[in-house]
Amino acid sequence: IPVSTFKGRKVAVFGLGGSGLATAQALVAGGAEVVAWDDGEAGRAKAEAAGIAVRDLRAEDWSGFAALVLAPGVPLTHPKPNWTVELAKAANVEIIGDIELFCRERRAHMPGSAFVAITGTNGKSTTTALIAHLMKVGGRDVQMGGNIGTAILSLEPPKTGRVHVVECSSYQIDLAPGLDPAVGVHLNITPDHLDRHGTIENYAAIKERLIAGVQPGGTAVVGVDDDFSAAMADRAEQRGQHVIRISVKRPLADGIWLDGDTLVVSEGAAEVFRLSLKGIGSLRGTHNAQNAAAALASAHALGLAYEVIAVGMGKFPGLAHRMEQVGTRGKVLFVNDSKATNADAAERALASFEHVFWIAGGVPKAGGINPLKPFFPRVRKAYLIGQAAADFAVTLGDQVPYEMSVTLDQAVATAARDAAAAGVEHPVVLLSPACASFDQYPNFEVRGNAFRDLVTALPEKP
Ligand code: ADP
Repeated sequence: IPVSTFKGRKVAVFGLGGSGLATAQALVAGGAEVVAWDDGEAGRAKAEAAGIAVRDLRAEDWSGFAALVLAPGVPLTHPKPNWTVELAKAANVEIIGDIELFCRERRAHMPGSAFVAITGTNGKSTTTALIAHLMKVGGRDVQMGGNIGTAILSLEPPKTGRVHVVECSSYQIDLAPGLDPAVGVHLNITPDHLDRHGTIENYAAIKERLIAGVQPGGTAVVGVDDDFSAAMADRAEQRGQHVIRISVKRPLADGIWLDGDTLVVSEGAAEVFRLSLKGIGSLRGTHNAQNAAAALASAHALGLAYEVIAVGMGKFPGLAHRMEQVGTRGKVLFVNDSKATNADAAERALASFEHVFWIAGGVPKAGGINPLKPFFPRVRKAYLIGQAAADFAVTLGDQVPYEMSVTLDQAVATAARDAAAAGVEHPVVLLSPACASFDQYPNFEVRGNAFRDLVTALPEKP
């Protein structure tokens, strides 16, 4: 998406990972003069190869810059201001991110095009992917990106009839003062990322801006199962916004709530629609009911009929690398949960199955798998890979049999054989590493894809 709102002006871009590079290119394509920098050599080299002017921003005259555009991974204020932020502030240069550029561009050239923004501490990606999926099933032209998958400025541009579904981290909202979705979704708030935002009040206030920014005539979809978020819904209504509340904990007279495994749409205490989530494997669990409720509200606000939404919901394939069921061999189910880069995430996976052949390891986080001890009784055997293998073996001790598989190839081969031979019902080979991947893979996606390829290559009868 070429960004023309800075045409003929000078813009500093800091952080040259995927989205930073896309930002620099979008600005150049729109006629801006870009000076880019990254503290890392790799990012600078990539930008130079793409024809972007790369110069140390410390040596630049900041009075000439119209804006500093920060990549989403760059800390803004915490624990201390980033040096580019300090230079920009001293020179009174505004500091924004790529989502802000998208919003300005959309307002300037295609104000009528549909734009949904999603945030919350948990469930952002699932909800974003689900909304995009529902809109596709409804026959719409959909572009999905932001904090999920493609950088926002690498998407196709806004146009009439097209809907942009954009996941926003709190970092990105912080850098998008003009965020103005037609439908704004806020799922929940729990303490997280406080390393960057300081207090939970500050973190909640940043998230609230997404809701507060919803266009006049638009819709704010708000989960009300935690106190911070419930208060946000109240304030939105006081501002005169159209609010749809969602809850998976209690019935709502107005809003969408969970009755057993059925979502209920209520208006003025009357039931307008019921949608059963029973049997939808990709939306298992109460947390996913919250995501499904938010997606239902959003898709309806964007004009889809409830019946169409119900059909689409049943066909949701789920997200790759998050408890993704990649296949079966005989009675053995293979699950790719490569996104589980810490014990907390691996816990949700282990808790979901009874007889687990567990592939774990990589670069461990503090505490390793110690918090997972209550789930060890579910693990029939562990297959340990990467740097963490020796430490994890110590934690497993004599509670869980394990093998030092070292590589994922070896782990999948043995786990598949062991699971097939085990005299248990519904054995599951689970990749939920509780570790980062970068000792053996560039990122969790590549690790998950490798797992999927290995499973696909297994013989039908191991
Ligand atoms: P995010 O993009 O916000 O990190 P994801 O949709 O990728 O969220 O889900 C990540 C993990 O968070 C899931 O594997 C699940 O365990 C948990 N989760 C998903 N949705 C919710 C929710 N609505 N509330 C609480 N936890 C959730």
